[in-house]
Amino acid sequence: MKYLQAKATDEEILKNSENGGAVTAILLSLLEEDKVDGVLNLKKGDDVYDGIPAYSKTREELLETSGSLHCAPIMTSYLIAQYLKDERIAVTTKACDLMAIDEIIKRKGMDRDNVFVIGLNCGGTVNPLTAEKMIELFYDVDPSRVVSEEISKGNFIIELDDDTTKEVKIDDLEDEGFGRRQNCQRCELKIPRKADIACGNWGSSKGYTFIEVNTERGEQIVQDAIDKGYIECKEASEKQIAIRSKIENVMIKMAKKKQKTQLEKEYPTTDEIHSYLTRCIKCYRCRDVCPICNCKVCSLEKEQLQQPDTEEPDPLLMHGIRMSHMAFSCINCGQCQDVCPMDIPLVKMYQKIQLKYRDATGYIAGTSDGKIPMFSGEKEEIAE
Ligand SMILES: Cc1cc2nc3c(=O)[nH]c(=O)nc-3n(C[C@H](O)[C@H](O)[C@H](O)COP(=O)(O)OP(=O)(O)OC[C@H]3O[C@@H](n4cnc5c(N)ncnc54)[C@H](O)[C@@H]3O)c2cc1C
Ligand code: SF4
Ligand code: SF4
Ligand code: SF4
Repeated sequence: MKYLQAKATDEEILKNSENGGAVTAILLSLLEEDKVDGVLNLKKGDDVYDGIPAYSKTREELLETSGSLHCAPIMTSYLIAQYLKDERIAVTTKACDLMAIDEIIKRKGMDRDNVFVIGLNCGGTVNPLTAEKMIELFYDVDPSRVVSEEISKGNFIIELDDDTTKEVKIDDLEDEGFGRRQNCQRCELKIPRKADIACGNWGSSKGYTFIEVNTERGEQIVQDAIDKGYIECKEASEKQIAIRSKIENVMIKMAKKKQKTQLEKEYPTTDEIHSYLTRCIKCYRCRDVCPICNCKVCSLEKEQLQQPDTEEPDPLLMHGIRMSHMAFSCINCGQCQDVCPMDIPLVKMYQKIQLKYRDATGYIAGTSDGKIPMFSGEKEEIAE
């Protein structure tokens, strides 16, 4: 049972789920069969642009979390490492969330045995503010009327409150600086295969979730959900598997092309990088949000490296140290750039370093087994 299509049997789940509701149904089975203490995922806040983390312990709480949020680039790895590492949990993850989890496990920040990982294939996320502006400009629609959105066949499609849809070519949006976040455009990992199961809609029949089973535990989770009547399944045909694989390959090709443009052709010159970094106000937001930056004592705060408040921050003290500590493990999640108040293109720099390091050593952050080749012993444990 490597590939299958699944559908929730519970009508209430099907009402709000993105595809076949299999993810919610499997999460519910883990919760009700007492395999986990809670489920960590996301739920809609005020609207589709507002995703908030949720930790559900009951059926009622969990049912509020169905559906996909494409404008919520939130990392759950930090929440697990900080608050949930002693609980038995299930978590939904995009590929980058899982890469972060993988890097944190390598730093002993959580125990993989305590976490059931339900992966979601990912074509990309859109910054919430960019999404609202883009919907006004390109779709000529009030953003509050959008009830869901998806990327399919090269188009960004929005569904409105009157059940109509509108679509625009993703290339046209991205050529104008809208569409998916730039790091997502360059992201090569589309199916999170280190998850116990990877779920999506590519290749699936309408109303079903396509599941790729990746681990023995994944097989057990699915089998239990079938046996207890939470999901019903049918086989995925050879043709469906081939379609899914073809789409995945097209997406990877597109990402490599974007890497070439954004990390080579349009990459800032040394002078431009210097001028970007001298804008830094050393607010530490990029460090605080980074799922890889987790040392017990941050070197940036060591007394001998502190500058008087009256001096402008030295960019080398901030970024020289941060880059040398973690850029080799950067998973291209994009969060540092999302939160930088000075609009510094941080992810481009960090991802470029990781890709060069990958080419030199074979180490792919968040994906390769084993520790980073030059990993330092002093950083093995994560902050309590
Ligand atoms: C940003 C994003 C992009 C996606 N792109 C693709 C794609 O290109 N191709 C493809 O095949 N599939 C993609 N998917 C997966 C797809 O949208 C469905 O999530 C999947 O098919 C499961 O459907 P379901 O009905 O079983 O899920 P549901 O039963 O509806 O459950 C969905 C689960 O995902 C959680 N969730 C929602 N948003 C997020 C988020 N941003 N991060 C983490 N967890 C979240 C929910 O809380 C819920 O637990 C994407 C999902 C997301 C979140
Ligand atoms: S970095 Fe990759 S996995 Fe993460 S949100 Fe973007 S496209 Fe999805
Ligand atoms: S440096 Fe930025 S893109 Fe890389 S892992 Fe940290 S927050 Fe994510
Ligand atoms: S978030 Fe931006 S301004 Fe703040 S420390 Fe990081 S690079 Fe500097």
